[in-house]
Amino acid sequence: MSPAQFSTAVLDWYDSHGRKDLPWQQGITPYRVWVSEIMLQQTQVSTVLGYFDRFMAALPTVNDLATAPEDEVLHLWTGLGYYTRARNLQKTAQIVMREHAGEFPRDVDQLTELPGIGRSTAGAIASLSMGLRAPILDGNVKRVLARYVAQEGYPGEPKVAKQLWDVAERFTPQARVNHYTQAMMDLGATLCTRSKPSCLLCPLKSGCQAHLLGLEIRYPIPKPRKTLPQRRTLMPILANHQGEVLLYRRPSSGLWGGLWSLPELDNLQSLDDLASRHGLQLGTRQMQAELTHTFSHFQLAIEPWLIQVDAAPTAVAEADWLWYNLATPPRLGLAAPVKKLLKRAADALAANTGETP
Ligand code: SF4
Repeated sequence: MSPAQFSTAVLDWYDSHGRKDLPWQQGITPYRVWVSEIMLQQTQVSTVLGYFDRFMAALPTVNDLATAPEDEVLHLWTGLGYYTRARNLQKTAQIVMREHAGEFPRDVDQLTELPGIGRSTAGAIASLSMGLRAPILDGNVKRVLARYVAQEGYPGEPKVAKQLWDVAERFTPQARVNHYTQAMMDLGATLCTRSKPSCLLCPLKSGCQAHLLGLEIRYPIPKPRKTLPQRRTLMPILANHQGEVLLYRRPSSGLWGGLWSLPELDNLQSLDDLASRHGLQLGTRQMQAELTHTFSHFQLAIEPWLIQVDAAPTAVAEADWLWYNLATPPRLGLAAPVKKLLKRAADALAANTGETP
């Protein structure tokens, strides 16, 4: 689709399906549009409706907001969260009164200089309330455009963001820019939703690259996951002939604090030390499938070894060690991967003896 075809399709859709009855679409002023845009930044339309009406009833003009006690503004914001937004709102109102004679500047760059107004919010204020040709790229519009052009790369990257802004700029029409902006936001909110886009109802489907590829959900590309540092450890699963496995309680502070775990070793050689510490006689050894567990700041690759213990004592001398019965497990706090390994060990032991676990 050419930019003209794109915006015509969007505007035609707006005429028959766009939202036209939202409170900030009535008696449109930069003040009303700005307050609604700030409220909508982290909050859904359905929640904003009540807040917007109360806010406007209490503070109908930018001067009312500029001169209101801060407590009053925060009170009107209570429940919307992200209170910096409310504080910035009042700061901006004061600047508009002081430096712009009570009128919002009719210029996107000047608007973005006001606290709490980014490029997309500035674009929304300019296009919705002033009819200026200014693109927007809020979360909803970003999703529509990223899918439409099948934009590679995470939009949080400056290079990718710039490419998407260029797309937004290219498709924004000269005429009816207010309706076009509203329509793009509505499209993203109602049709081009995050997990289940209704492409068959979408006016852009014939040109949408993601749709043509059948890869709508792939876009926008999510934030790349950090590659975490890897640590390796070896966990011996020392199993005696009573179907018990040797566990120890981890120190109360630190990783898996206070939970019961399999012993951890740097290498198989240290196994002998562990065995002599607990008076164990080691029997057959069987390496099991590696298990990777992801913590917030690193990945732990666990190499589990199932080791039969011959002539194991029935009690361990140290308080933070115990024999854990796999068939009748005591109620203990276990680290998640340890739980998984014990289940696997129970299956493997049952298979070794031909029993069902
Ligand atoms: S065709 Fe589907 S994926 Fe493409 S813009 Fe429309 S709703 Fe979104």
